[in-house]
Amino acid sequence: MMLRMRELSRVYRTDTVQTTALDAIDLDIATGEFVAIMGPSGCGKSTLLNMIGMLDSPTGGSYLFDGQEVAGLSETKLAVVRKENIGFIFQSFNLVDELSVRDNIELALLYHKVAPSERKARVEAVMDRVGIAHRAKHFPSQLSGGQQQRVAVARALVAEPKLILADEPTGNLDTQHGEEVMRMLQQLNAEGSNIVMVTHSPAHADYAGRIVNMLDGRILQERRRAA
Ligand code: ADP
Ligand code: ADP
Repeated sequence: MMLRMRELSRVYRTDTVQTTALDAIDLDIATGEFVAIMGPSGCGKSTLLNMIGMLDSPTGGSYLFDGQEVAGLSETKLAVVRKENIGFIFQSFNLVDELSVRDNIELALLYHKVAPSERKARVEAVMDRVGIAHRAKHFPSQLSGGQQQRVAVARALVAEPKLILADEPTGNLDTQHGEEVMRMLQQLNAEGSNIVMVTHSPAHADYAGRIVNMLDGRILQERRRAA
């Protein structure tokens, strides 16, 4: 099991307001799954993705990541587990404008103990995998949105994370480039990548093997794509 959440809650408190963003969620995601999370605005999708990605801590419940309880860990320890295990893909790509495609991807390896010679080889291999090798020396502003998202996917992959989290990866793309990115994620999943994605698009959710529908901080229903 890649992750197991039990009665996981996240309550936001201010002086006057208390919001239960996640209300005692139970969720198991097996190694190798591609899961899409859907639901109306405000239902808790981002909060759940932040929990899964250890960007935020729950206010209650248990979260086992690859067998390790992480619910009670300090921010410093969470950051270590996160960097070693998770790759992120964002709606807005989040590339560094001043760095070339190759350097953007290599940046993700600097946190990891990878020798410089192996770094180069891994960056080349991952650029080939996502079909961006012919743009290695370009800068983000010289690429189409679809190409920028390919670079972001390569950056997420290069450290070989156990889990890839994608927050509306097609939200800034036109129909054609959105479908290209979805096909790429589906292919990466077929090659073994474990992916959890938030999306508003039912068509894009259909690329996942399993769709989790949320409402008001809870999991409303789930469905698996017929094999
Ligand atoms: P979604 O991603 O599905 O739109 P969110 O996870 O962003 O939903 O939000 C879930 C609920 O938690 C919403 O009611 C939202 O207003 C609230 N919320 C999210 N982040 C915060 C925060 N930092 N402080 C207070 N309330 C928050
Ligand atoms: P693709 O369909 O391959 O993702 P597009 O058809 O959008 O790309 O763009 C064709 C080519 O034009 C791309 O290879 C890209 O390098 C270049 N290009 C796209 N947008 C821009 C831009 N804003 N500035 C400079 N070059 C661009």
